[in-house]
Amino acid sequence: MPRSVAIVGAGLAGLSCARTLAAHGVETRLFDKGRAPGGRLATRRVEAEGRAFAFDHGAQYLTARGALFRATLEASGAQAWQADGWHVGVPRMSAIPRALAEGLEVALAREVVAVEGAAGAWMLRHAAPRRPGQKQADDTVEASGPFDAVVLAIPAPQAVPLLRGPAPHLARVVEMVRIAPCWTLMAAFPSRLALPDTLRPEGSPIGWAARDSSKPARDAATECWVMQGGPAWSREHLELRAEEAQAALLTAFAELAGGLPAPLHASAHRWRYALVEQALGAPCLWEPALGLGAAGDWCIAARAEAAVESGAALGAVIAGR
Ligand SMILES: Cc1cc2nc3c(=O)[nH]c(=O)nc-3n(C[C@H](O)[C@H](O)[C@H](O)COP(=O)(O)OP(=O)(O)OC[C@H]3O[C@@H](n4cnc5c(N)ncnc54)[C@H](O)[C@@H]3O)c2cc1C
Repeated sequence: MPRSVAIVGAGLAGLSCARTLAAHGVETRLFDKGRAPGGRLATRRVEAEGRAFAFDHGAQYLTARGALFRATLEASGAQAWQADGWHVGVPRMSAIPRALAEGLEVALAREVVAVEGAAGAWMLRHAAPRRPGQKQADDTVEASGPFDAVVLAIPAPQAVPLLRGPAPHLARVVEMVRIAPCWTLMAAFPSRLALPDTLRPEGSPIGWAARDSSKPARDAATECWVMQGGPAWSREHLELRAEEAQAALLTAFAELAGGLPAPLHASAHRWRYALVEQALGAPCLWEPALGLGAAGDWCIAARAEAAVESGAALGAVIAGR
């Protein structure tokens, strides 16, 4: 069993893998390029017009089919919302990964651009820190390691280039996974809209819209909405500038709402890899001879629960359970 494991990605899969390994006495270090753990289980906070708004702009609601995720939701204080079996983080979605990250060593703003070395002595090479939207600098600034093993808990298309050098055969397998993009619009309005709390429109660029402020423990005095472009629309318009996607989705939402007041805040976020369309079909990948593995929702299905299951499965296999 490896004694030290580096985990690239502190989303649900990476966190769940780290917790499982820690429970078996394996030392782990997580590295994430973001400013907070959680990945696609995310909350964006903004200030506009002298007010604070929060939007769960990634996963919208969580459902648990198995005992592990049920326990994860319960332990992180998630609460019911809207439909039978739907849960959300409280007071925001990001509270769930925050709870999972407690007690773990997580290095944030630490993008990994290469996995180098050999079995038993892997090194991670990092990119120079950059602000959101800023292009990656060519120079890498530092390295971490050595580690006995490395886990890639990042979306499959982002894992492929990191695997090509040390494990090209794994890269070829991961290349088969397909993940759909999703343009997401976040908007706050000065007054309540005459719409139900959730919508799944047909024949619109928007595939899902929800009154985020209707979730438990949110500021109900705000009228915060999250609207997602459908997969076909998002794919077709993936390379729009954020302002262009924002304008197009706001127009589509105005059509659904029969008109809109001027928003107090509106911004769009491009999830290049959002929802798994073609999964790997195995709980995780692990190459014991190399000490390299991969986990993520993309191993199993397009759901947050799949990420937790995949990470836990990889942790167990590495620990020899
Ligand atoms: C818009 C949207 C809506 C969704 N709706 C739902 C829903 O309603 N219900 C549901 O169950 N699921 C939903 N999902 C899916 C759910 O969010 C995911 O299944 C789950 O969060 C995936 O977790 P993960 O750990 O596999 O990956 P991620 O959450 O993507 O975590 C990967 C982490 O790796 C980091 N990373 C990537 N590359 C590097 C690198 N080179 N170096 C360092 N760090 C790196 C990222 O910053 C990220 O934190 C939605 C997702 C999106 C985007």
